[in-house]
Amino acid sequence: MKTESEKDTMRTLVGERVSPGLAQGKAFVYRDVLQRDSELSEIDSTQVDEEKTRIEEAIDDVRQSLIIDAKRIEGRLGKKSADIFRAQEAILLDAAVVEELKQTVAAESINAEHVIRTVFRRLARRFRDMSDEMFRARGDDIDDLSRRLLLSLAGIQAHSLENLPANTVLVARRLLPSDTVFLSRLSTVAVLAEFAGPAAHAALLARELGIPCVGGIPELLETVHMGDVVLVNGNEGTAVLNPDSGARQKFARDLDEERKRQETMAQVSRLEPTVTVDGVEVAVMANVRSREDVELAMNCGADGIGLFRTEPFFLSTKHFPSDREFAEFLLDSLHPAQGRQVDVRLLDIGADKNPLYLHLPPEPDPFLGRRGVRVLLEYPDLLEAQLRALLEVSQHFHIGVLIPMVTTESDVVQVVERFQHLADDMGIRKLPRIGAMIETPAAALSVPSLKKHVDFFSIGSNDLTQYTMAAGRENPLVAAYFIDDHPTILRLIELVIREAGDTPVSLCGELAGRIEVIPRLLRTGLRSLSVPAVLVPDVKQAIRHSRS
Ligand code: PEP
Ligand code: MG
Repeated sequence: MKTESEKDTMRTLVGERVSPGLAQGKAFVYRDVLQRDSELSEIDSTQVDEEKTRIEEAIDDVRQSLIIDAKRIEGRLGKKSADIFRAQEAILLDAAVVEELKQTVAAESINAEHVIRTVFRRLARRFRDMSDEMFRARGDDIDDLSRRLLLSLAGIQAHSLENLPANTVLVARRLLPSDTVFLSRLSTVAVLAEFAGPAAHAALLARELGIPCVGGIPELLETVHMGDVVLVNGNEGTAVLNPDSGARQKFARDLDEERKRQETMAQVSRLEPTVTVDGVEVAVMANVRSREDVELAMNCGADGIGLFRTEPFFLSTKHFPSDREFAEFLLDSLHPAQGRQVDVRLLDIGADKNPLYLHLPPEPDPFLGRRGVRVLLEYPDLLEAQLRALLEVSQHFHIGVLIPMVTTESDVVQVVERFQHLADDMGIRKLPRIGAMIETPAAALSVPSLKKHVDFFSIGSNDLTQYTMAAGRENPLVAAYFIDDHPTILRLIELVIREAGDTPVSLCGELAGRIEVIPRLLRTGLRSLSVPAVLVPDVKQAIRHSRS
């Protein structure tokens, strides 16, 4: 609630530039489901029945999705994985648990969310206190069940980011990958985030959607209110709340100029070759995640798609997608890029990107744990479904297939072998080009052995920086160490290019889109960059003004 003095008072918020551009819209203040639930909400006696019904509906909803997930997972990952969902379903069928939930609503006069948290925490503790190791491990399943119920309760009016109105300025403490899959540039015009370093997901998403983002604004959620008018300036890293008419008029003029500038730049980008002052040609491709992005990329003059991130698709489905569904998604998304080179990355999950339906167990050090290719090799059905879909797509598009989070030669060899095997089964004689992501120092230092098995490399500087500088990309406390243009990173890039020899190398991390770094990137020998679509025109322009 706004106090009288806060109401509609003009105010300027200052943060960091995360994604460029100007936009005007109305604030949507987003609190994620787990955050909201930590706020105790008391109810009165007239609301008890309503909350009980909400609990019953959430239980029904979660049971349905557990049955569907168990069936799909059984087909893909085997009975053992599916049994986890069946055990969860059994807990939800347990009359004593349902009774305890309902009684707690009445006895403690608190809302459904809080009841579910309390009762399931109690239940998890009971399991964790047992002497049998197997029962103790069930505590995690119960936490997961509680999370599913909470999500379902929130989802009674759909995910709060799913149907945002047009012209929304999204205001959040931070955004996780599973939040970002719901955003679309048709509704969200800008993002303001309290925590969003340059390689955080909120930043990546905003740049890829081509919308401005300002990060690092302290006490953001306490300052901005639902429906506030906001003018966002991503070029300066500022936002004006409740602007007066003078500020609005000036902003409208700036916005108009910016639009004209972008249209002219996009036209030049589409028509003119990208050649340095000393005559070296450089390819500028786009990073995308959807058909909308591919359309934008082509409109901005991208020479191809250097990185198609597939995680948003897998995170947006409620169940494990079949190879057919994945192939259809790609065939539709890639349509605007027909005839161009398109590099699709195999699913890079693990760490902070975990589709619930896969039920990957939690790990103590997720970023140093099972991510990318490690997960794919552990769940062969998950890998093979994607490879089959990609083989089909390769009959219609010039695709390359990128293997994420490579650390060893064996990571690559195993994927290539699976690929060859499936192609033989499907009667496809020619494999698509295969590429290894260089995102770890181990991969960067293993190029001579990796290149025996792949057709190209793509350097992911976001992770390469995180693992080389030992600074988490989502951790604001070590942002000062996350230096993606540090001499060590540029040296690794140079080494990769030198040792790759004739094997093409591209750079697709956020570093590739940093205009001021382009001259230094070209000096490492890089001749191919992949950047968020909206940055393609500016990056091409910067290359035209640089020497190689
Ligand atoms: C990277 O790590 O630089 C990269 C491109 O992959 P992602 O940002 O999706 O981890
Ligand atoms: Mg990466």
